[in-house]
Amino acid sequence: ARTRGMSHQIAVIPGDGIGQEVTPAAIDVLDALEVDFEFREGEAGDRVAEETGDPLPEATIELARESDATLFGAAGERAADIILPLREVVGSYANVRPAKAYPGLEAVKPETDLVFIRENTQGVYAQIESQLTDDLATLTRVVTREASRKIAEYGFEYAEEHGYDNVTIAHKANVMQETDGLFLEAAEAVAEERGADYDTELMDALAMKLVMYPEDYDVIITPNLAGDVLSDLAAGLVGGLGLLPSANVGDDNALFEPVHGSAPDIAGQGVANPSAMILSAAMMLDHLDYDDEATRVTDAVETVLAEGPHTPDLGGDASTEAFTAAVIEQL
Ligand code: ATP
Ligand code: MG
Repeated sequence: ARTRGMSHQIAVIPGDGIGQEVTPAAIDVLDALEVDFEFREGEAGDRVAEETGDPLPEATIELARESDATLFGAAGERAADIILPLREVVGSYANVRPAKAYPGLEAVKPETDLVFIRENTQGVYAQIESQLTDDLATLTRVVTREASRKIAEYGFEYAEEHGYDNVTIAHKANVMQETDGLFLEAAEAVAEERGADYDTELMDALAMKLVMYPEDYDVIITPNLAGDVLSDLAAGLVGGLGLLPSANVGDDNALFEPVHGSAPDIAGQGVANPSAMILSAAMMLDHLDYDDEATRVTDAVETVLAEGPHTPDLGGDASTEAFTAAVIEQL
């Protein structure tokens, strides 16, 4: 992996709707730092699909492939045709979803500060489904030792680098004895080799405990489907999808995107909250070993969220630009 101090090429794909507004905001924040990034913009989304019939042009795929990392804004109607291939282009095996409540904002559980490390390539999302007859459909669940070890290694490494004490491995190995049995065995072997402490939780019990005691958790390593569901549950604990960033991490490439979509209801008005996108850019800084810069950006967003100004989704009347300017001011 390329690290701090080297020049990085970053693919920037704003996409549709408010992606066009929050992506430039994140670039402005990155420009305010002393980092050696070369940004190259690629097209994707409904607009380019209307012109060419293709929501994800080959040139954009190439751009993402050649870059060290990709910042992605949002996609509208054709989201699945854009983001799924792009995640594949970066070879993403880990989906990283922090769920953190911010001081001063409403949250069901203000004490929540945790990170999901979700296996992103297999499980029931391997798309091996068959309709055998009119009345019978089946699905094959794929789990390999290699992919399970890989996600566990990433999770334990992430916890160590970020100073998190608690690592939880989520599973349902009591029922899915072969598949989740293998996932759990592989993940526990990684923990033991590293001499790392960890807990295991059945994913259904974990859903309940997350609602009741989210403060007990830091890093949660999960199979694909469980991570999808539990990370949305945790989003609910911190006040919804609006402020949440995410990363899709591969071996030597990664894609960073807000959890929210293109928000067509407010697009074009200049009032979208750029927090999730700016925090996604902070995750990119962290991934590229700009740890101090990542912390500075995260702290600046946190301060502005606490003190204002706020965009309309948080009850204020600040524009995207005004919010972004306040973040840069904090930097
Ligand atoms: P898509 O089909 O692209 O997912 P959507 O209609 O599902 O679009 P989302 O982007 O998922 O919309 O957002 C759901 C709601 O949250 C919308 O009302 C939207 O305005 C609001 N929202 C989402 N992101 C933001 C943001 N960054 N700032 C302000 N409001 C937002
Ligand atoms: Mg949506």
